[in-house]
Amino acid sequence: MKKKFLPIANPDIGEKEALAVYKVIRKGWISMGKKVDEFENNVKKLIKVKHAIYVNNGTSALHCSLLALNIKSGDEVIVPTLSYISSANAILYCGAKPVFCEVDTKTFNVNYDLIEKKITKKTKAIITVDLKGQPVDFDSLKKLGKKYKIPLISDSAESFGAIYKNKYVGSQLPIHTFSFFANKNITTGEGGLITTESGILAKKLRIIRNQGQDKRYNHIELGNNFRPTDYSAAIGIEQLKKINKVIKEKDKIAKIYSDHFVKQKNIEVPYLPNYVTRPSWYMYCLIFRTNKLRNKVMNALNENNIETRLSFPPIHNQPYYRLRFKNLGKFKQSEDIFDRFLDIPCWMGMGIKNIKRVISIIKTTAK
Ligand SMILES: *Cc1c(COP(=O)(O)O)cnc(C)c1O
Repeated sequence: MKKKFLPIANPDIGEKEALAVYKVIRKGWISMGKKVDEFENNVKKLIKVKHAIYVNNGTSALHCSLLALNIKSGDEVIVPTLSYISSANAILYCGAKPVFCEVDTKTFNVNYDLIEKKITKKTKAIITVDLKGQPVDFDSLKKLGKKYKIPLISDSAESFGAIYKNKYVGSQLPIHTFSFFANKNITTGEGGLITTESGILAKKLRIIRNQGQDKRYNHIELGNNFRPTDYSAAIGIEQLKKINKVIKEKDKIAKIYSDHFVKQKNIEVPYLPNYVTRPSWYMYCLIFRTNKLRNKVMNALNENNIETRLSFPPIHNQPYYRLRFKNLGKFKQSEDIFDRFLDIPCWMGMGIKNIKRVISIIKTTAK
């Protein structure tokens, strides 16, 4: 008999969300309206940030942010190559050039030194990424931004609900962007969010979100339609109530995994720097000694009907980027890490039996 399928992620979405959507539809106002305001206010209260702007997805959140910073043709924007395609594509949408950056071998995120090497006169913004839901060292990067007077955007798509030095991620860098796609810790189906402490930026972001209008049919910026729907915001309001419950349980599962795998010589468990109070555990990722071993474990899990994920391939190696740009450089660490990474199931409600099943298969295969 085929074993029951164990997915890599599983959104916790049910009756409350269904009812919330029903109510919005029955009211008759389904495009951006009161529910969007309410969702933004609830987010602001939770993560203690001055401004929150809800948009239609995480990619739009990045694009909108770069537009608000006036990024344009001729500009360079630094971004880690080990990220989801959106982090770099948003730069191309603005006509600017992505300058790829290597990641640290321990945190798999960028740091001060790695980014500083890439700064030129043309650098007009820096995008950092909280890979797997682990925040970068915001304080140190903020210093870098101040030193060179370059604005920073944190692609925090994966770290909503994570805690950096006892404070929720979202107010540390000038701009943070988030995603509420279906496999993130909380979801609105499709949805994104921008947070900032700056009133000037917030105002501009809202104008750009809504076709560049400051008032109806008066377009003072080249905006776009980055507007979300009111019924997705209604889902967000319900989902937001669960964020801590979701992450607390993922944190428990992650600890069980790490306690087991830390003893295994062929496996590295996620490294948690001191500045990370709590990652969001968007994905729990193991690092195997070799690519061969990673593949062997992946196959063993898949044969047992347990879903796994390879991470995002480094962006500089994506066919479109190879074709469009001649010399993007080599990024050995990112390539090597990508070859040895494996995300394994870690989600609220997966149950101790499944956790043990995953552990036992990995332990016997990775000996
Ligand atoms: C999910 C994700 C995004 C984009 O989010 P969408 O809502 O799918 O557009 C951007 N960056 C990273 C790192 C992500 O993981």
